[in-house]
Amino acid sequence: MSKSTKIKELTSHEVSQLLTNKKFSKLKPSSCNLCGEKKRFLRRIFEVYGVAKRKHSDDKTQNNIRLQFKQEYSIDFIFFKIHDGQFFVDSAVCGVCKSTAIVYDIDLFDQDMISELSKLTGKSKEDIIMGLRLASNILKDD
Ligand SMILES: [Zn+2]
Repeated sequence: MSKSTKIKELTSHEVSQLLTNKKFSKLKPSSCNLCGEKKRFLRRIFEVYGVAKRKHSDDKTQNNIRLQFKQEYSIDFIFFKIHDGQFFVDSAVCGVCKSTAIVYDIDLFDQDMISELSKLTGKSKEDIIMGLRLASNILKDD
């Protein structure tokens, strides 16, 4: 971890502002790895400063940041998001068991996106949903 890297947690107001953004909120907490809760999560989002743009998706950079979140914030699962050129770390706490090992998932049933994909590919909406489900299972198995 380079010394110039700084992590700042967003305030609850900033988090709710950011979550109104459709693109940002597409990948969201879907289930608690510990107790299986699917709805009640407290979202914690951080902005990471001082990482060069070309390193945002670098494995080594992300692993270092992951480690730092485990050690300094006791957060097990984090997700990286690049939004408007800013580098964010998205995490959640289970509202039931307080675990931070929360699995994220793409909102497969975002109807706007499915309509767009359907127009774009010429496939039916049902086909699109099936394809997305398949892709998400493959991602989860990784
Ligand atoms: Zn839980």
